[in-house]
Amino acid sequence: MARTRRPVVTGWFTDDRVPEAEFRLLGTRCTACASVFFPRADDGCRNPRCPGGGELTEVPLSPRGRVWSYTDGRYRPPAPYVSDPDAPWEPYTLVAVELAAEAMVVLGQAAPGVTPADLDIGTEVELVPGVLNEDDEHIWTTWNWRPVTPREREERS
Ligand SMILES: [Zn+2]
Repeated sequence: MARTRRPVVTGWFTDDRVPEAEFRLLGTRCTACASVFFPRADDGCRNPRCPGGGELTEVPLSPRGRVWSYTDGRYRPPAPYVSDPDAPWEPYTLVAVELAAEAMVVLGQAAPGVTPADLDIGTEVELVPGVLNEDDEHIWTTWNWRPVTPREREERS
């Protein structure tokens, strides 16, 4: 049976219909105070200094940022973390990425194969589509952070 690709959280990132180069996290911006929120705020601005009266509109977040902190998960967390106790535990790397334009830090897993040895505080990383989990019916999609290679940095400048 063909499995369906499903976002692990609906509305937090662009779906599979956009090309990978246009993959983005989706936040919301208040039209009154210009504050950007991720996870998205849809029910009201969370800025206590907001003059009020604004609307929250969806905005794509910057696709690149810099590593603010990182660590790796070397043991299986207890429930309600979902994992197969019979499968061998695969360590993964967690990254907190600072997005300069939005003045915020966004957490996420590093792309498969990226370890703490590949990262430093300040390493430039970019957002890429990822897979969180797979079961019999679904491929649960998420976002990952991947270091920008020196060549990619050169091509952009
Ligand atoms: Zn506001």
